[in-house]
Amino acid sequence: MFDVVLTTDRTMMTDHHGKEFLGFMATGPAVGIPEPLWLWICAPKMKTDELGRAWQAPYGMRKIESVLMDAGFKVATIDPSKLDKHLKHAKVMLIGHHDFFALCPPSSEWWSITKKEPVNAKSFRRLMENPSIREAKRKGLKIIVGGPAAWQWLWKLDKWVEWGVDTVVDGEAEKVIVDLVAKALNGEDLPRYVYVGIEEAPKLEEIPLIKHASVNGLIEVTRGCPRNCKFCSVTLRPLRHYTLDMIEAELKVNVSEGLRRGIIHSEDVLLYGSRGVEPNPEAVIKLHKLVKSYYERISWSHASLAAIKVAEEKYKLVSKVREIICDEHQDFWGVEVGIETGSVELAKKIMPAKSAPYPAEKWPEVVEEAFAIMHENHIIPAATLILGLPEETEDDVVKTAELLDRLKPYRSLIVPMFFVPMGSFKTKDWFTRVKIRDDHIEVMKKCLGHTASWANDIISKFYLKGPGYAPLRWLLKLFVGYVKWKAKKVEKKIAKRRASQGSQ
Ligand code: SF4
Repeated sequence: MFDVVLTTDRTMMTDHHGKEFLGFMATGPAVGIPEPLWLWICAPKMKTDELGRAWQAPYGMRKIESVLMDAGFKVATIDPSKLDKHLKHAKVMLIGHHDFFALCPPSSEWWSITKKEPVNAKSFRRLMENPSIREAKRKGLKIIVGGPAAWQWLWKLDKWVEWGVDTVVDGEAEKVIVDLVAKALNGEDLPRYVYVGIEEAPKLEEIPLIKHASVNGLIEVTRGCPRNCKFCSVTLRPLRHYTLDMIEAELKVNVSEGLRRGIIHSEDVLLYGSRGVEPNPEAVIKLHKLVKSYYERISWSHASLAAIKVAEEKYKLVSKVREIICDEHQDFWGVEVGIETGSVELAKKIMPAKSAPYPAEKWPEVVEEAFAIMHENHIIPAATLILGLPEETEDDVVKTAELLDRLKPYRSLIVPMFFVPMGSFKTKDWFTRVKIRDDHIEVMKKCLGHTASWANDIISKFYLKGPGYAPLRWLLKLFVGYVKWKAKKVEKKIAKRRASQGSQ
């Protein structure tokens, strides 16, 4: 039996049928489909062994598991459906999450638009209100939470107390977690909140390697980002590139546990091995050859639009990578990219280096050309926009709308997200009170229209091809139908409001 168990809720401990983008549905409420079916689409239950250990688990949790195993603790990552028997013996439970309370975009947008709580927050609440956890708590179980959404607990103090969370760890936890768990096991007092700053972030040689399979074979290749966008916390972390040996060791772990496809994780995959914002073609090629020698299918977590443009313009690097990736096993790959704004003025204020090595004045052209390069090379981006930034003017939003018009020919999904200043968290239901103006609605409508118009093409010809995916394809097309219906509703709402304003 295990003294320490790591776990999370069902929307995190899942492989989304091997289609990472389906995880996006977990950020919304079930609409037009019963919730159990919705959960089946976006968060099918994870396979486990006879002890309830998850076959695949979120990568960050695997890192923590690895550090604790190396320190000699009896630890395992347990599927949430198999927790009960372990809680009779475990003394410490660690929980990681990307969005505990659905406060991050796009969960908060879905909540705001539909006025319904997203399934990720509901699923996490069900986990925390599991009677076995309450019972174990009464017997002295210590609960430590962390992960990218750790900050959310600062705005949910009532739940922090009600659910008996002992410690929240905010930041890269590898160097602090052993001490915390040792204290918990020894019955010593735990700090309520631990913030891990840059100086405590692990150096490259201190980053542990995973020992068991990560969700969808994700492997990290770089931590940190050199671009310094004002709204982003990733940029506060030092930049560290894994060596190819480290990457190969993690690939071997995933392959040995049965995975044949995976995601290369970095804030900017094309900057792997670089010292700044110019790609290092040799390193990028070596990385892809290595990963493709282990995985049949690969995708990228994130890439910057500027790196895509400069990589192709200067080195034909995107085309060369396509020759490595695309073969008899795959003919496209996906990636998340950040457009954020179509306004040069706003780009200069909030993300002056996002377009580097090109000047910020060229940002809209960088976006458009990067989209064209991705389209030609069968890369399907899921792009984000940020609305409601404090510095934003109506003219900035108009510029974003104009850019969206220019992006119409390029196969992609575009998701608008609302920036919420920390001060706004002071009210508990801030997400339902975001001031959405008409110009924002216009942009949201364009995004919905763009995404809905490409979604069926992407679902049928790329992501969910073949008879095996027929039920999922059918259900997702239903969802796309809902999105289109919603877009029309929003359009009617705008027209009605404008008509009533005009008659006053
Ligand atoms: S480019 Fe992306 S990861 Fe890097 S600082 Fe900007 S928003 Fe953050």
